[in-house]
Amino acid sequence: MPPQVDPTISGVLFETDTQTEDLGLDQDVSKLKKAGPKQYEYIWGNIAWFLFLHVGSLYGIYLGLTSAKWQTNVFAFLVHLMCAIGIGAGSHRLWTHRSFKAKTPLRVLLMIWQTMGFQDSIFEWARDHRTHHKYADTDADPHNAERGLFFSHMGWLCCKKNPEVIEGGKRLDLKDLYEDPVVMFQRKHYMKMMPLLCFVLPTVLPVYCWGESWTNAFFIPTILRYTIGINVVWSVNSFAHHFGYRPYDKSLNPRENIGVWMICVEGFHNFHHTFPWDYRATELPFYNMLTPTIGFIELMAKIGQAYDLKAVTPDIVKRRSQRTGDGTHHLWGWDDPEFTEKLKSQLGVVSHEARAEKAKSG
Ligand SMILES: [Zn+2]
Ligand SMILES: [Zn+2]
Repeated sequence: MPPQVDPTISGVLFETDTQTEDLGLDQDVSKLKKAGPKQYEYIWGNIAWFLFLHVGSLYGIYLGLTSAKWQTNVFAFLVHLMCAIGIGAGSHRLWTHRSFKAKTPLRVLLMIWQTMGFQDSIFEWARDHRTHHKYADTDADPHNAERGLFFSHMGWLCCKKNPEVIEGGKRLDLKDLYEDPVVMFQRKHYMKMMPLLCFVLPTVLPVYCWGESWTNAFFIPTILRYTIGINVVWSVNSFAHHFGYRPYDKSLNPRENIGVWMICVEGFHNFHHTFPWDYRATELPFYNMLTPTIGFIELMAKIGQAYDLKAVTPDIVKRRSQRTGDGTHHLWGWDDPEFTEKLKSQLGVVSHEARAEKAKSG
């Protein structure tokens, strides 16, 4: 292990990592937050690429408002939605957090949509995101929010990783990813599949299917759609780690940010870092219902493609927020009238019962 590497875990990933009855860690993790001195080694290729994407996107917005066919704008939105589900439900909730299980056809579909989103292969995405949760807000966190808003948004992709991040990633158990043939297939063929799915098809289809111009097809469903996609994910790492309330655990940087949710449809980030293995975006059914990723997982569960959906019990959520929250939990209202007894019994399942059961048998 190189010097300066701090092996202290500052966050949980799975139920099995938890040390307290209310599913937290048995230490004050706020004391672990840090951003030590860093030598920034810039990756100029990435910086030039991001500049091109953002300038190209402004042109894409202009074309979308002035000369694009309506089918092209609708198509761009649909491609964005597929990528968001591939990343949100696939590489995030299924492969990083194992918050539900999926049959092979669904895993293949999510893998294709995830590839279309071009944010690294599932294997790399899940490894980096596990590192982010396990070493949250330390130098082993790839987008350590302690280093500032810009660094956690996109700055981390403009420079080389800290050695702590690489070491943190190596300490993680990735056996499940190695054993998943869909993940391994995508890893092997990523550089052949990604350009076709992310850039070629979204440009070619509008031209051949409804006679769109090449310029519009390249700048709207391809460049603009892709740039929006990456910024959505980056905003959760940046804005939702800096602004908002912390009703579940005030020792963590991640926050509940309704603004980020409205734009990114993901932003209840204090809940997510407190209970990362929960398949839901939040404990609030109304917002889950309006979150496409969660709606998609529930739809897949209805048709039998997704199963073993994990959700933390209402009792645990309440106990945890009372012990470690910042006192704003009532703002979201656990006793909100919309959260009926019927929904509580449907959604408040698994985790702590399974854990108690395991403790009894083990
Ligand atoms: Zn986070
Ligand atoms: Zn996560």
